[in-house]
Amino acid sequence: MRYAALSLVGLLTGLVGTIALAGPQQAGRVTDAEEAFLEFLDANGAVALIESGKVDRFEDKGLADWKRLSGERRLALRAALSRVGTVGVSGADAQAVAAMQKSLASRETDDSTAGVREQACKDAQRRDLDFAGMRAALVSCYVEFGDRLQFEGAVVDRGSALQLLHVLDEPARRKALFDAFVPLWAALNGRNEADSPYRRMIAMAAADGAKGGSEIDAAARAIGVESAEIERWLVQVLEAWRDASGPQMVEPWDYRYRNSVANREVAARIPADGLLPANERFYRDLGADLGRMGVVFDLAPRQDKSPFAYTEFLTRGRTVAGQWRMSVARVVATYPTGGIDSLNELVHENAHAVHVSAIRNRPAYMDWPDSVFTEAFADVPSWSVFEPAWQRRYLGTVVREAVSLRSLFSDVMLDVAWALFEMRMLREPSADPNAVWTEITSRYLHIVPHPEVPWWAMRVQLADSPGYMVNYGLGAVLTAEMRARTIESLGPFDAGNPAWYGWLSDRLLHYGSQRDTRSLMQELLGRPLSPAALLRQIERCRVPD
Ligand SMILES: [Zn+2]
Repeated sequence: MRYAALSLVGLLTGLVGTIALAGPQQAGRVTDAEEAFLEFLDANGAVALIESGKVDRFEDKGLADWKRLSGERRLALRAALSRVGTVGVSGADAQAVAAMQKSLASRETDDSTAGVREQACKDAQRRDLDFAGMRAALVSCYVEFGDRLQFEGAVVDRGSALQLLHVLDEPARRKALFDAFVPLWAALNGRNEADSPYRRMIAMAAADGAKGGSEIDAAARAIGVESAEIERWLVQVLEAWRDASGPQMVEPWDYRYRNSVANREVAARIPADGLLPANERFYRDLGADLGRMGVVFDLAPRQDKSPFAYTEFLTRGRTVAGQWRMSVARVVATYPTGGIDSLNELVHENAHAVHVSAIRNRPAYMDWPDSVFTEAFADVPSWSVFEPAWQRRYLGTVVREAVSLRSLFSDVMLDVAWALFEMRMLREPSADPNAVWTEITSRYLHIVPHPEVPWWAMRVQLADSPGYMVNYGLGAVLTAEMRARTIESLGPFDAGNPAWYGWLSDRLLHYGSQRDTRSLMQELLGRPLSPAALLRQIERCRVPD
């Protein structure tokens, strides 16, 4: 269709003279810019691969060469984009150019935060910092204190500590690990005074949001609902969880452990070296062959490896000699122990990998869509590992449904609680955060009130991007909707369904960065989003007395 339109413009130029020449010429320039865009992204992919420490060289070049190429290609891309200009670019081409600029801008913000981060945690005591500086100082607290928790004579990072709270068998050790967070909490919350670092920062966030819209407004806009509606959803979800839970209260350091029975029951069935085979088999059964996609796995432990699991593009897809060559992903994670939580994370990361390989669009769109959509999609297959049908087929053993689903949704509920906490703090920044958090967690999660302990301050997002936690809470709404709609159309997929990958690729994945969350979900569902699908899943968590 593009060629037909172009040749029509070509014909017309003869009639209307030189002005219309802009059409085909501009189209050629957009094509050049798109070519430069892919080349630049591929150089970045190579730099990131080598910097991750997995290899020293990629495609016969070392880090210095790839860094030099990345710099040169960035300049070439900038030049190509400026040659395109803004005059005479058609609708589709204009959108493609805008998408490339958005991809570039998001990359440059990632790079520039490194400079802002030069605030130290103690700078949070200063009264002259602006909003960005204050956030940077508080994020440094998470690095200075959060990554150096003192536990049993050793140093533990925050992510590992939160994982350990799911698995430590002795209550006293869980309590000690929980208490190891105290220096971090004190750095954010001081003595819970009215002008504590966190309260001064959240007041700035509220003022900033009143001017330009908050993170919560952005999330609401992204899915096409009102911010007030989101708060109603969060409360409905938490009420459903409360109603599905027994009356007994649990200490905050025991909440994760109490809800992790499934992991303990099947741990022996999922040794660390069994994770990858189970994962590969599941995706093959879903019609997605990870081997054929060339997914690069980086799972072996090594010094200085990222403590977080992530998945990125290694190379971008393109047409080579008339043939489509798909994008290749790399998956980075480390699993010293097996278990269902590790498996859940590995299946989540591999959903990102199959998403990468499904993207098939013009070069300008060979990138991730919105992160809310991307993360929610990755949970579509990863929630399956908590389903009895999945466990029967891939583990040969089944955990009681409610017990298994509780281990999934208890963590989701903490994210929903944080989302509600942030909404309330942004609305009333002078409120006592300990009181707000205690009210939410005791009422809905049946966690014993400890209003003297600022244990809300566990998540770095609270400082880095106040209001952002709502994306995690809403992600579960999207995931539940996607799973329900897929099952309605294709039948169950928890124990495999060969139509799964092709169907989702056609409807959701192949667009890359072209489409936003709202339009993708509207098209999938044929109606606006609703929390009903998630509420039905929470109902399945009901534990009989
Ligand atoms: Zn993810």
